[in-house]
Amino acid sequence: MASRKKVLLKVIILGDSGVGKTSLMNQYVRIIERNQNELSSYQHTHLWDTAGQERFQSLGVAFYRGADCCVLVYDVNNSKSFEALDSWRDEFLIQASPRDPESFPFVVIGNKIDVEENKRMISSKRAMTFCQSKGNLPYFETSAKEALNVEQAFEVIARSALAQEESEEYGGGDFGDPINIRLDSDRDGCAC
Ligand code: GDP
Ligand code: MG
Repeated sequence: MASRKKVLLKVIILGDSGVGKTSLMNQYVRIIERNQNELSSYQHTHLWDTAGQERFQSLGVAFYRGADCCVLVYDVNNSKSFEALDSWRDEFLIQASPRDPESFPFVVIGNKIDVEENKRMISSKRAMTFCQSKGNLPYFETSAKEALNVEQAFEVIARSALAQEESEEYGGGDFGDPINIRLDSDRDGCAC
């Protein structure tokens, strides 16, 4: 029997107030409900949303501790929310202090792409340049309102969290038993 040290993966979702974090989470819950009978990495993923405290930049260390993936969200129609991504990333690295900050998985989401074209402030190109400069972070453009591209983003988020957790198990040495680690994310290799 395969066994796992930690079955619940912690994903935290950061970004300025109003960018759509809670709305994305609600869409994510719908995805889980829809996929309930499938063997899916979603099942193990627990998303941590803020309760609005991000307005005061005071989320506390318990929010960040033990995260397996960090989602950085901005609103494509709001430049300030894009410019804040860097400081949210820094805040995460300070508070969560992951073992290997260089390889820690972040995923960037530009939300509210359903809003009229002429309201858009941040181009895909600009966002992708930012993501490249931070070590090729995966980038998705979504609409939580119209459920556009949300599932695709969370598939990558869930897989990144799983990969991070597994790399920590291997790196842990003290209590890891590599033989027992099951690669749930490698669904393609399973014919059952
Ligand atoms: P949070 O503060 O980051 O958690 O943001 P919320 O999820 O509370 O959303 C803030 C506001 O933006 C709400 O009025 C949402 O209905 C709206 N909103 C969220 N996502 C979208 C989206 O994709 N498109 C549009 N047009 N509005 C959105
Ligand atoms: Mg919220």
